[in-house]
Amino acid sequence: MSEPNGTPWGMCAAYGCPLPGTVGSESRWYCFCHVNKPSNFNDAITRELREKQKPIVDAIAILRVRGCSFYGSDSEYRAIQQLLIGADRRDLLMSADEKQTGGARAWLQRLERALIDACAGFGQQKPIPLAVPTAPVIGPTHASNFHPYADGDAA
Ligand SMILES: [Zn+2]
Repeated sequence: MSEPNGTPWGMCAAYGCPLPGTVGSESRWYCFCHVNKPSNFNDAITRELREKQKPIVDAIAILRVRGCSFYGSDSEYRAIQQLLIGADRRDLLMSADEKQTGGARAWLQRLERALIDACAGFGQQKPIPLAVPTAPVIGPTHASNFHPYADGDAA
């Protein structure tokens, strides 16, 4: 399944990006690394993610598929550990704090932050707005004098 522009369904709209599209911008979905970056840096970011940050990208994919839960599946938790140790990123292993509080979601955020930091050098990222901008309200604001069917036969 893919969207009209050829992006595989659910993936970031930047060409070839290995991350899921999780942030909406200009009616497309981008990953947290590509969103709000100047588009002339898209390929450099994709290359960074695919070539240098692949173990972290893969770890995030496993965490997301598991819904941040490892109940009954130690093997996937271990797979992520191996990815991070293999990439010499022991600093990104699940912390004791995160383990105690079942904080896989906090762990996921820390991994995502590591990728955002890794891509920080590619173009200035505009801040992600916290509120979705809304158009001003148009049309009647009170119902009392608004009769949408007034020009026809009264119902
Ligand atoms: Zn992306």
